[in-house]
Amino acid sequence: MSFTSLPHGLATELRELGPLVDFLQRSRWAQRAGEPGISDFVLGNPHDPVLPGFTRALERVLPPQASNWHAYQMSDPHACEVVARSLSEQTGVSFDPAFVTMTNGAFTGLSVALQTVVEPGDEVIYISPPWFFYPSMIRRAGGVPVSVSIDWERIDIDLEAIEAAITSRTRAIIVNSPHNPTGKVFSAEALQQLAEILTRASNRNGRSIAIISDEAYRRILFDGRACPTPAAFYPQTLVVYTFGKTLLTPGERIGFVALAPEYPQREEAMAGLFAAQVLTGYGFPNALLQHAIDDLDGEIIDLASLQAKRDRMVEGLRAAGYRTSEPEGTFYLVVESPFANEWEFVDLLAQDDVFVLPGTVFDAPGYIRISLTGTMEMIERALPIFAAAHAELLTPV
Ligand code: PMP
Repeated sequence: MSFTSLPHGLATELRELGPLVDFLQRSRWAQRAGEPGISDFVLGNPHDPVLPGFTRALERVLPPQASNWHAYQMSDPHACEVVARSLSEQTGVSFDPAFVTMTNGAFTGLSVALQTVVEPGDEVIYISPPWFFYPSMIRRAGGVPVSVSIDWERIDIDLEAIEAAITSRTRAIIVNSPHNPTGKVFSAEALQQLAEILTRASNRNGRSIAIISDEAYRRILFDGRACPTPAAFYPQTLVVYTFGKTLLTPGERIGFVALAPEYPQREEAMAGLFAAQVLTGYGFPNALLQHAIDDLDGEIIDLASLQAKRDRMVEGLRAAGYRTSEPEGTFYLVVESPFANEWEFVDLLAQDDVFVLPGTVFDAPGYIRISLTGTMEMIERALPIFAAAHAELLTPV
């Protein structure tokens, strides 16, 4: 499709997202998703039953407890209190509930955070490989996306490359840790150094650079690890969170944006977030989800089981000869395709009912992403197929 009947900006985004949209709507995976017996590692979607505590939480709030139970709900002050307290406990940074806004997931959080800081033509740096929608969201907010690759050797944030990418027009950087798709958790030292780089650059520019910290996976951590936040080191940080990962219920939309304690001109920023949320299409979570926040915040998926799947997958793939990242958090790992064109590899696996995401759709051609939200049975079924594919692809013909 050429999208000539659509407005120019939207058509550009559609063309940019073309490979992703094609994959999600037209690939072999799109035709087969949900079938029993396949090994589906494509998205961070649940394949196990939902947490019973999640269902109980919603059942508890379903009967109306007041006449305004289903009224228009912006950010419920009680929900803001609960999430600010929880985030403060997780991070050791004291977040103030007055500077939290409840959002319809991290999608909306990222979008309104960008709208609140970006002027037309401002550059916004993002770390590549990114979550699919960063560049398009930056453009929708009027900004110019600037991609900075991770250091692929170390699979870690590349501070020198970030420093080199900063110009007088840089307005913000999106940092995503734990990082989708590599699973890397950026260290406190790296975030501290990033803060120093941004402070120097902001002083030079006479205008401060904001950090939009996408912490969607901040509670999906392995080996008892902690997840440092840039908010501990850098005042102008907007923390973006979603419950969709922690509860593995991405179809139920609730998250938030929290401003770091020393965020400059916080009242204005809150007014900006509020306006952006209303105008973006009432980007608040549904009232029922906000009523359930006490229970929801206390629930988390079984991390030991997720970690066991990580261990099995990484060990199995490496034994078969693959190079993979070793996730410290998130649902994902990236794997180097044994074929330069990873689509051929993806197709080969799909012939045997194993489905993975091609790297081209997340700016990493030559790699694939595997989601560990697939079940252990899927992993056991898939590992011999991965091994056979590796052997087949490397056999000279
Ligand atoms: N950021 C990252 C890094 C993600 O992986 C996702 C979901 N895949 C989101 C944001 C959006 O989260 P949600 O759909 O819960 O809003």
